[in-house]
Parts: sequence; structure tokens; C-alpha cells
Amino acid sequence: MKAVATDGLTLLETPLDRMLGARTAKALEKLELRTAGDLLAHAPRRYVHRGELVPLSRAVEGESVTVVAHVLGTSLRPMNARRGFLLKVTISDGVYDMSLTFFAKSSRPLAFHESKLQPGTVATFSGTVSAYRGELQLTHPEYQVLEDAGDVNEEEIARPLPLYPAGVKVPTWTIEKAIGSILDQVQPDDIPEPLPDEFRSLHDLMGAYDALIALHRPVTDDDWKRARERMKFEEALILQAVLAQRGHEATSVDSEPRPHLSGGIADEFDQRLPFELTDGQKKVGKVISDDLSSARPMNRLLQGDVGSGKTVVALRAMLQVVDGGGQAALLAPTEVLAEQHYRSIVTMLGDLAAGGMLGGSDIGTRVDLLTGSLGAKQKRAVLGRLAGGETGIVVGTHALLSDNVQIPFLSLAVVDEQHRFGVDQRDALRANGGVNLLVMTATPIPRTLAMTVFGDLDVSELTELPAGRQEVTTTIVPAVKETWVDRVWERVAEEVQGGGRAFVICSRITPTENPALLEEAEEGTRPPLASVDELTEQLRTLPALQGIPIGTLTGPMGPEEKNAAMAAFQSGEVPILVATTVVEVGVDVPDATAMVIMDADRFGLSQLHQLRGRIGRGNRPGICLALSWAPPGTVASERLDAFAATRDGFALAEKDLELRREGDVLGASQSGSQSHLKYLRIRSDSRIIDLARQSAGELIEKDPTLATWPGLRAAVDSARQLSETDYIGRN
Ligand code: ADP
Ligand code: MG
Repeated sequence: MKAVATDGLTLLETPLDRMLGARTAKALEKLELRTAGDLLAHAPRRYVHRGELVPLSRAVEGESVTVVAHVLGTSLRPMNARRGFLLKVTISDGVYDMSLTFFAKSSRPLAFHESKLQPGTVATFSGTVSAYRGELQLTHPEYQVLEDAGDVNEEEIARPLPLYPAGVKVPTWTIEKAIGSILDQVQPDDIPEPLPDEFRSLHDLMGAYDALIALHRPVTDDDWKRARERMKFEEALILQAVLAQRGHEATSVDSEPRPHLSGGIADEFDQRLPFELTDGQKKVGKVISDDLSSARPMNRLLQGDVGSGKTVVALRAMLQVVDGGGQAALLAPTEVLAEQHYRSIVTMLGDLAAGGMLGGSDIGTRVDLLTGSLGAKQKRAVLGRLAGGETGIVVGTHALLSDNVQIPFLSLAVVDEQHRFGVDQRDALRANGGVNLLVMTATPIPRTLAMTVFGDLDVSELTELPAGRQEVTTTIVPAVKETWVDRVWERVAEEVQGGGRAFVICSRITPTENPALLEEAEEGTRPPLASVDELTEQLRTLPALQGIPIGTLTGPMGPEEKNAAMAAFQSGEVPILVATTVVEVGVDVPDATAMVIMDADRFGLSQLHQLRGRIGRGNRPGICLALSWAPPGTVASERLDAFAATRDGFALAEKDLELRREGDVLGASQSGSQSHLKYLRIRSDSRIIDLARQSAGELIEKDPTLATWPGLRAAVDSARQLSETDYIGRN
């Protein structure tokens, strides 16, 4: 029998104040636990055994902690300077000691605590850690005695003790008690089962109700381990079912087939290509071409390493669509990149991009650029040509997504450097229905992460680089060694003298005023982060660089200024460009041979890889010099070592995932209460994610609305009501 409370709420929906009383409910609300369901879903952070103590060494000032420790001794005495009494209790986990202090006006309440906390007593203590005369202590902690000294219950000792994420005013045992009182009222039928029976038996998973009991009231360690395993499968299946359903919906509408047509712009373009396509480009090109020919919209992710030539692949697809009478849009994350794509497409197409214009090819089309900074008049003209179908290919930024942009024959949308776009924007692009979508990543992302974030897309990979790609040597330069740093600028001068260009990347535009960073500088761990403004000044006075023009490029510069800076750099007029990471994605200057990265230890691995990808694109080998302040043995230094060791973006992506803390992977909060993925770990659960993905695909294929499995359907529906960021967190 399913217990149904008044007003038709299910037991899980029932507010806690009706089940536990107002006081406890109010306390639990601080942890965002409002209903019985919330509370039951509040998972223990870890489990301990009575004999096994939770190390005090993890305690950090200002944090609220729960430790299991034994009492070493107590002392109760009047206070020196003030009236009142003080009880000091020393506890230990066997290695570390910590003090507890209790104050009171009279000695009576303190004597009570003292009597409960006799030496040898094992208890759970909860409170906020403070430092007093250099020692960590808890003031007025909450505690619960687990074992009185000498009184040991064997059976109790064997049971794992759940420790819950708790608050200062809501210690773990209060939560445990509240959960216990709810569990006493729960019947198996109250707990919905999202997992289809077949899936459960296939992977030998416990049922939803059993898992709940095993999580909160485990008898053995095996209980909670199996329960957690089940919860991981549950989260993975729901997530993958959401993605599979989304993918299914995107591709189940009709789409105008745009098969390859012989003798059109696409063929003409291929004939004129100044290089041979790589095997990978040909293969992916064929897959995409087939997608476009079908009456189902394409929904594809193209993963390719930096410099693998994704743009050509995308352009060939756009031309196929244009040949068939459709329009194509290319979306870039920044104006710099949009302009560059526009220019390079126009250059690659030559007179093919001048359709309808004097001197244009007979079979040509029109290519337009649409960005936010376009003048009103120009913008009107572009909008008019787009709406009239005159423009075959439009390149732009987010501006393309705005409501007043009409692209009536839009058949293919290409999204470049996807990591800056979200699912919502993907949906906006597809709003008209039937639009083919090609998403391209800037750098490879690990496979499990791709399955999670881009799980609704089919995936193609470009793993090889075009032939003749130049060597790029990477050197990590210890920034503390002045002679090494001097050598960096000499090398830059040599590159420029040899006809190359050099990027110099700073993480800041202006010198920092952030007190924390300045303090760090004063403490001598490192100087303030290099800034474009300051470094440019310095480099201009450096003897090694005398006579070499140095330019700058930063985000806030106006579009014209940016264009001018890029053009001067490209032409070699200003061969050194000090810039922020605005050049990070996609900038293509074949003559660039040197990449200097200041404070490289502050950059992420994929960012570093992107930056390095800017050089060695022409016919000269490249040199990447990464200046680091990271002491050996730190994660930052390990990251840089990995960076120097390989140029394979796919390998770096996996390494990156390995080096990141789990919390950073999806931006999920450590506490677990914000993220809806509480158990699943992207980093370590790839096997489960794989299995769930496979099953979810099969289920959705059999029954796209999941009507056969109402439990799963309900879970998927409610997950889809959360926004993307709520669900898997910001990436
Ligand atoms: P990414 O995949 O990083 O976006 P791009 O598409 O910008 O790479 O390509 C990098 C450079 O390689 C461009 O200058 C492009 O013209 C060139 N390129 C692309 N494919 C080939 C190829 N098959 N052979 C030689 N050069 C190529
Ligand atoms: Mg690119």
C-alpha cells in the first residue's frame, strides 16, 4: 500500500514540517531539504565504523567538520579574566589532537558535558573549526557519544555509520534521526523505480527502495556500496535517456534532403583546393554529405584536434547545401573569429563567393558577415539579402540567433568552437525545424565528457593533421630564472628575423589590483600576473627586441582596431602581438612561429593546447615557450609537463580530465545538493556511462516517449524540466 497524505501529495512530496515537526523542518530547510523526498535523497557523504576515526588532519579553519574521535582528557576550571567557567576537552584520532571548549556562567552545565565525555569515550563531534593561539579547536561543538568508555556493543560496531553533509546547526545525527523517522513511514511502493526491470537484471542492480534502505541504514559496507552503484546506474540512465530523447526529437522532424549535386559550387571548390584533403577529412565529408542527403536532419558533433582542418570540412558541407538551393550559417563565438572565418571563406572561394556580382562565377553564391558591430545600414542590407535568399552562406556571432534575423532557406547551421554554446542555443538554431546541425569543438574533449555534454549528437572525429604540418617544440621556462627568460625574448627576436611572427599571451590586460594577488606577490611566491599593457611597455624597451614593432590585441578593443591589429600582424608589419586569450580559438596566421605564454601555470590544459595550436600552421616549424611559476610537484606543474610531452589533443583531453578535481569537471558543487548528479563521476564512471548510453539508445529507439516504462519516463520528464546548467552543471 502506498501511503498518501492529505491533499493528495505522495509521501515523498510531503513537506517535512508535517512529518517531523516545525523545529527540525526549519533546521533542515537550511540545507534546502523541504520534502520527505528531498531528505531521503540527501545522501551520506561517507561511512565510518565506530572503531575507525575520521582524521582531524582534514580540519581547516572556518570549515564545519564532523569528526569521530576519542576523548583524551578534560579540564574544568574558572576563567581567569572573566566570570564564568571553561571546560576544555582534548580529543584525538590517534595521530592528531584537537581541543573542544565549552563556556558557561556556572559550572553545572559544564560538569554535565564532562561527565559524558570521559577519557576513552568515542563520539562524533560537529562544529566550526577556529584557530586559537595557533591551535585548531571547536567551540561548543555538537556531539553524540557513540561508545561510552568500556561499553562496547559488537553488533553496533560492525554497522557502518553514515555521515551526512551537515550544517553547524544541523549535525549529521539530527539528519540521520530525521531520515530514520521518515524511513519508518515509507513503504516500498512509495519509492518510484525509474529503472526498467530488464536494465536492473542485466546489471544486477538493487531496487530503488532497497537501495534507499541500504544507503541510510546499511548493515555492512557491501550494502551501501551496492546501493551507490545502483544510484550511479540510475543517474547515468536518466541522463542518457534525456540525451537520447533529445537527439531523437531533433532528428525525427522532416528535413529537405540536400544531396550532392554534380557540377555545382561544391565540385568546383574541390577542384580548386590547393591541397589534398586528408583521409579523415574525406571520410567525415562523406558521412556529412550522406546526412545532408537524408530526409532527417543531421545532428552531429565534429571533434577535431587544433589544426586538423575542420573549417574546410564545414565549408564543403555548406556548399553542398547551397548547390541544392539552401542557405548555410556558420556561428563563431567571437567577432574576431567570425571575421576571420568570413575572410578565409571568401578567400578560399575566390570568385565563387561573388555570386550575382560583376566578375563573379556563374555558379557562385553570396557570402555575408553578420556581427553585432555591423553598421545599421550594412546590417539592413545583409538582413535583406538573407531574408531574400540571396545570401548562400552567412558567417556570424550570436547576432545570428536574434529574432530579427530571417534565413528562410536555412538548411545547415555550423557551430564552431562549441564549448561556448549550450544546448539551449543549439535548440534556438533548430527552432525552425529540419535544420541540419554540425557542431565543431575547438579542442578534443574526453570521450566520457562528450557523451555527457554532447550525448544528443552523433560524433565524428578528425584525428590526423594535414600532411606537412610543422614540428612545434614546447619548452616550459621556469620564470624564476632570469637568464632563461632573457633567452625567451632573444628567441622571439630570432623568429622575427627569420620571417616568423610571435604571439605573447598574458592572462591580464592591465596590471592587477586584486589584493589577494598583490599579497601573493609580496609574499614572494610569484610576481603579479603579467599584463598586456605592462609587458608591452617592457618589451618595447628591451634591447633584444629593439627595432621590432610590437602590437597588442585584447577583447575590449573595438572591432576596427582589432582588425587592424590582426592585419598588421598577419602581414608582418607588426610581427609581435601581445594579446590576451582572445587569440585562443581558431586564429589562423600561417606565418606565426612563436608562442610565448606568460604565467602558463595559470592556464588550463585545453587552453594551452589551443594557444599552441596557433603556431606551426605554415611552412616553418614553431616554438612554444611557456613561462611558469609553478613549483615542481604541484598539479599546475604536472599539467605543464603533460602539455610539453605531447601535441595530441585527444591524449591531452584525457590527461586534463585526470588532473582535474571531480568538482571542476562539470562544475558540480562538492556538497552535492546543487548538482543532480550526486553519485555519478564523469571521470571514473565511464564504464557505467557507456552501458547506460547503450541501453538508453535502445529504449528510446523502441519507444521514443518511454510510455512502456512509466518510472523512467517520469524521471526523464522531470530532468528535462531542469535547465541544462541545473542538471549537469556548467562546463
Ligand atoms: P581547425 O580544425 O583547428 O579549425 P582549420 O580548419 O583552421 O583547423 O585549418 C587549419 C589550416 O590548415 C588552415 O589554414 C587550412 O586551410 C589548412 N588545411 C586544412 N585542411 C588541409 C589539408 N588537407 N592539407 C593542408 N592544409 C589544410
Ligand atoms: Mg577552427
